[in-house]
Amino acid sequence: MVYYKTKEEIELIRKSSLLVSATLAEVAKFLKPGITTLQVDAMAEKFIRDNGAVPSFKNYKGFPFTSCISVNDAVVHGFPNNVELKDGDVVSVDLGVLLNGYHGDSAYTFALGSISGDVKKLLRVTKESLNKGVEKAIAGNRIGDIAFAIQEYTERQYGYGVVRELVGHGLGRHLHEDPQVPNFGKRGTGLKMKEGLVIAIEPMINLGKKEVYYDTDGWTVRTKDGKPAAHYEHNVCVQKNKPDLLSSFAEIEKNEKANSNLDSSY
Ligand code: MG
Ligand code: MG
Repeated sequence: MVYYKTKEEIELIRKSSLLVSATLAEVAKFLKPGITTLQVDAMAEKFIRDNGAVPSFKNYKGFPFTSCISVNDAVVHGFPNNVELKDGDVVSVDLGVLLNGYHGDSAYTFALGSISGDVKKLLRVTKESLNKGVEKAIAGNRIGDIAFAIQEYTERQYGYGVVRELVGHGLGRHLHEDPQVPNFGKRGTGLKMKEGLVIAIEPMINLGKKEVYYDTDGWTVRTKDGKPAAHYEHNVCVQKNKPDLLSSFAEIEKNEKANSNLDSSY
């Protein structure tokens, strides 16, 4: 069942999405080698609660934390843990908040210290592919147009692995609503989008092959070949002539650049 949102609902989801963006911007200030992902998770949870919201992921289908923090070969749904982050780590932080009855859900991948040229390119291309997907979120286009744009760029143009097991989704009163928004597919197929459809677009792109497996914790998705992956996620509302981006990377990118412990040179 696809729910199209009213103007009022769109503004409420925007507030939630921007709180996720603000939380990720705090993470961008906080990240450095030597801290643990559990510390990042605790900081994010405090920030979300101090802003009057509730972490969407905590207890969602039994997920025990505020954030999914996925390091290196972990693609998504990583458990925060006690392992100290180190120079060269690729750290995806995925966060959701529930505020005024509506969810926001966004993710960003950070690089600690300095990373190789190959990984820099992966981060850049994955973020660019997200923007290419967002550009297609226009009334009259189909979900497959978003999917195709992302796959075409990352897989066919750069030879990266596009994860098949996990997809983007509708967003609103529920964290995951219809429709599914895959990062692979044929253009001209799938749901024809109308104004007021709010979706989370989230390419999960592997430097190597597309195959993944679930870790023994039952949640963490890892690349089979052990190579790193990247993950960026925006919330967007479908509109007539151009997409309405509800989340924002502006403050995250500003803080990423200002944090000398992060590599923002990709
Ligand atoms: Mg997410
Ligand atoms: Mg999501």
